[in-house]
Amino acid sequence: MLSDTARQFVAAPDELRDRVILITGAGDGIGRAAALACAGHGATVVLLGRTQAKLEAVYDEIVAGGSPEPAIAVLDLARAQGPDYFQIAEQIERTWGRLDGLLHNASMLGQRAPIEHYDIGIWHQVIHLNLNVPFILTQVLIPLLRKSADASIVFTSSGVGREGRAYWGAYAASKFGIEGLSQTLADELKTEARIRSNCINPGGTRTRMRAAAYPGEDPLSRPEPGSLMATYLWLLGPASRGVTGHSLDCQ
Ligand code: NDP
Repeated sequence: MLSDTARQFVAAPDELRDRVILITGAGDGIGRAAALACAGHGATVVLLGRTQAKLEAVYDEIVAGGSPEPAIAVLDLARAQGPDYFQIAEQIERTWGRLDGLLHNASMLGQRAPIEHYDIGIWHQVIHLNLNVPFILTQVLIPLLRKSADASIVFTSSGVGREGRAYWGAYAASKFGIEGLSQTLADELKTEARIRSNCINPGGTRTRMRAAAYPGEDPLSRPEPGSLMATYLWLLGPASRGVTGHSLDCQ
């Protein structure tokens, strides 16, 4: 199975050399781990997030490790407007002329509540950040991804993006949407072997979001984000060339 292949992947030290990869929500949790892993394997990473201090800490860690110097893009994706997206695309175009990887990682949990009582305003916020934003960012960046010889778009799904579960509300609906967006895009781009689109489901992972979703759970019972990185490196690097339209499980 593809998920097993990815999980068992051992990336070469320079697996992602010369690749420019944009990661949303790169300041914390799984996005931070993905940024460190990608940079550690030679990628130039664009760290996108809303909290400058967190992005700077990741930047410092990458530079201290001797990896390629990353770039920082401070942007609150919940509030971003058209010009904000185009500004990011312009900066990438001007600096590198292409984009080789796009990891849609930032998202919000929203409310844990039955549909019958789910707050409509929160529903809109969750669907916007978790589904509309990846759509818009992808659309704006496709021309730059086309300029790569081997581009990989990775959307972040969830177990509740494949099978609905009570009280996961807008989060579950948004992740079902992400799976649909990724599949639709993969089908549209299948004649362009140079851009692939896949989903990744990290599975329950020791992060702030997980703690918010499961406050009673012992955080140590869940793996650290860094331990999931084989699947991320496999999907974002040359080893998965030609793989598109799939949804992989990290655990
Ligand atoms: P965290 O909440 O730990 O981290 C999310 C990151 O996204 C943070 O860096 C956060 O920034 C950033 N972010 C949130 N909102 C915005 C925004 N409006 N604009 C820009 N950046 C923003 O989440 P995880 O690491 O746990 O989750 C990462 C992905 O994995 C998500 O898509 C999640 O749905 C998915 N996932 C996670 C699972 C888990 O068990 N952890 C299980 C299944 C899926 P800041 O730090 O500044 O708040």
